[in-house]
Amino acid sequence: MTTQTPQKHWTARIEWPVALFLIITPLAALILTPLYFMSVGFQWPLLVFSLIFAAATNLSVTAGYHRLFSHKSYDAHPVAKALFLLIGASGFQGSALKWSSDHRRHHTHIDGDKDPYNINEGFWYAHMGWLFLKESVDQKIQAPDLEKDWMVTFQHKYYVPLAIITGFGVPTLIGWMMGSPWGGFVIAGILRIVLTQQSTFFVNSLCHTLGKQTYSKDISARDSVFVAFLTHGEGYHNFHHKFQIDYRNGIKWYHWDPTKWTIRTLSFMGLAYKLRQISNIEILKARLHAESAELQHHGFAEDKIIMMKEKILEAQTRIKKLREDYAQFKVDAAKKREELKDAYDHKLAEIKREIEIAKMEFEVGMKQWHAHRRAIPIS
Ligand SMILES: [Zn+2]
Ligand SMILES: [Zn+2]
Repeated sequence: MTTQTPQKHWTARIEWPVALFLIITPLAALILTPLYFMSVGFQWPLLVFSLIFAAATNLSVTAGYHRLFSHKSYDAHPVAKALFLLIGASGFQGSALKWSSDHRRHHTHIDGDKDPYNINEGFWYAHMGWLFLKESVDQKIQAPDLEKDWMVTFQHKYYVPLAIITGFGVPTLIGWMMGSPWGGFVIAGILRIVLTQQSTFFVNSLCHTLGKQTYSKDISARDSVFVAFLTHGEGYHNFHHKFQIDYRNGIKWYHWDPTKWTIRTLSFMGLAYKLRQISNIEILKARLHAESAELQHHGFAEDKIIMMKEKILEAQTRIKKLREDYAQFKVDAAKKREELKDAYDHKLAEIKREIEIAKMEFEVGMKQWHAHRRAIPIS
């Protein structure tokens, strides 16, 4: 005999406080923003403050809620943590504890039924639809490490008053100090909240829809510069899902990742430390592995692909080892430099030469690899 659970009326399935907030704030921003500009005009100091506050809100979510609290990709000084928790609360995206618990569930169960913002339920659902439903919002918090952190639990306990004070109270007060409490409330309050929320929501929707699956083709997460622009650097999402412990999302120096630059700046100031980073060899290995599957799929022989891959990785490993030898040799021989001058210079030149040869082998290997990839017909 089968028992059927009675279907709940749709109104009982809605997470009303969140749903109303998500409906009312964009409407209010849409109506009040033009009204504000029409009645008061452009108040530049207030607009600059709003822009800085918006960037700080986004960065508190990306560098704080996401890369620090959810993934522990670096350690932070209590001052940085306090700032992330206070400014992060002003973004009305929930407490850091709840946010991180949901986000860790997203990583563990990506694209599955237990993924709170599962992209397979549709773009809108992953974007913000999931926030309207009790069943996806009311998930048990599972983050024992964060529950031991008094700052995180304090923010969680007093989240609502903190969010109201920092999200609406502070901007209204600063607006008043700049001659327009109304402007502070509308622009640095409501409009900022709506825009920063949308930036975060794009990570869950667009980052799983648009871009390349550079490091793993088994997951929906994608890498896109365009999305990185919208999300303060979170757009290199395929990399992030593959290597969530890395404090960077954009690994090249020119990748648009202001969150990574913020973490580095904090580290320079002594407010962030133990920045975790995956080695270049591991990253290259994952990339070649993902591309191997593609090459095989298009008819290239498996043993040939393996051979090419091994040649590249071997050269890369050798470069790393030789560079370490070079640095070590310099340290070891520093004291005896004068007496061993000729031998010393000779040895250094020899390692340098070997590095150049390994680099060339690596480049040749990569060229051969790319030539095979270019031969794949564009689908
Ligand atoms: Zn993540
Ligand atoms: Zn994701």
